Amino acid sequence: MQVNLENANQQTVYDIIIAGAGCAGLSLLYAILNSPSLSSQTILVVDKSFEKSNDRTWCFWEEGQGVFENLVCKQWEQISIHKESFSTILATDPFVYKMIQGEDFYNYVISYAKGFENVHWVESSIHLVDNQDNQVVVEWDGGNAYGKKVFSSILQQEKLFTISQSNLSNPFLWQHFKGWLIQFDEPVFNEMEARLMDFNVNQHQATAFMYQLPLTHRKALVEYTLFSKDILSASQYETEIKSYLKINFPNKNYQILHEEIGAIPMTSQSFAKNEGNIYVIGTLGNAVKASTGYAFQFIQKQVKQIVSQLEKGVTIDTQVHNTRHSFYDAVLLYILDHKLMEGSEIFKRIFEKNSAETIFKFLSNTSNIVEDIKIMRSLPTHIFLPAAIRVLLRRS
Ligand SMILES: Cc1cc2nc3c(=O)[nH]c(=O)nc-3n(C[C@H](O)[C@H](O)[C@H](O)COP(=O)(O)OP(=O)(O)OC[C@H]3O[C@@H](n4cnc5c(N)ncnc54)[C@H](O)[C@@H]3O)c2cc1C
Repeated sequence: MQVNLENANQQTVYDIIIAGAGCAGLSLLYAILNSPSLSSQTILVVDKSFEKSNDRTWCFWEEGQGVFENLVCKQWEQISIHKESFSTILATDPFVYKMIQGEDFYNYVISYAKGFENVHWVESSIHLVDNQDNQVVVEWDGGNAYGKKVFSSILQQEKLFTISQSNLSNPFLWQHFKGWLIQFDEPVFNEMEARLMDFNVNQHQATAFMYQLPLTHRKALVEYTLFSKDILSASQYETEIKSYLKINFPNKNYQILHEEIGAIPMTSQSFAKNEGNIYVIGTLGNAVKASTGYAFQFIQKQVKQIVSQLEKGVTIDTQVHNTRHSFYDAVLLYILDHKLMEGSEIFKRIFEKNSAETIFKFLSNTSNIVEDIKIMRSLPTHIFLPAAIRVLLRRS
């Protein structure tokens, strides 16, 4: 995306500086510009690069229409999970499982924001965000600016790897994956069904599955995904995808149209806290769900919460996960981390015994106690209970 980069006005103290224009930064920018009482605030957006590529595909479930409904490129009303001879297909109703391409999102929000003269842009690498009296200074290669409030999502992947290897009190796993957008010469997919987890793949002593999202009968995003402590080499993911395609679609030809690779932290460990007038958002602001790696909808929730607080002029709280669901996340992670039960067995049991509605509510942190108990009862008590006690004891 070509952004008309203007130098930050060094004289202005911006009302808001957005440090990092990825999913969280741009979602916040869009929400602020859509708020009648906030849209005329002076805003500076700083990112190391506005040359955004289609670096990720976001999928999430939603009831009804969302803020970025116009960007949804595909949606499914059926999801499935597979483990050996076990297969289940669930109707997602009242939710719909949706997909947005990263590139469409970046282009849309940046084009929209370019229509606002009060939004300034700087393309440079930030090396300091610091509270100074009642303001925050943001310094980048070649300049700086002051803001009354700064919302930061800058978290370098290298820093995350260092955190993951340090001696943490909470388990830390990666959800890591490589995916290919492939197109077959002939129809092979059921485009109505998103295959969320197919555990019939090499487990690599982790929780591993193929994630298959058909866009048409011929085209799908196929991702080899693992929950584990160590990341694989790019060729290891590719070997698994190739072998999966060979087994599932023997003698069929396909082309690779695009690829994506990623690693999402799965942990209850927080990476940063709000300090003074610096507020952390997105992955940095712990918006990722620890037990699943899903973040897109939690980022939208976080943004909505922040905008409402800005409108009311009240204290900003960026926390999106409630204590009860954070506890469940910690227990599930503990079980996975200590290999008390195979991840494939945990997910199989949850999907076998519950409706997609209950599961999605549980994973969105919106389930009630009765629904939570239903999910927890899907797991053997002799595994779940001691893990829950361990997590509780560690917290107390
Ligand atoms: C490949 C991939 C696929 C994913 N798919 C899903 C999915 O399907 N569903 C889901 O819910 N979640 C998914 N996630 C998880 C999560 O939604 C994304 O990681 C999301 O992009 C996190 O948003 P963020 O704003 O915190 O980080 P980012 O989107 O990574 O944004 C951070 C921004 O900060 C900038 N930046 C970093 N350092 C600096 C610096 N020093 N100076 C200036 N700028 C800097 C970067 O350029 C970037 O634009 C996925 C993640 C990945 C990596």
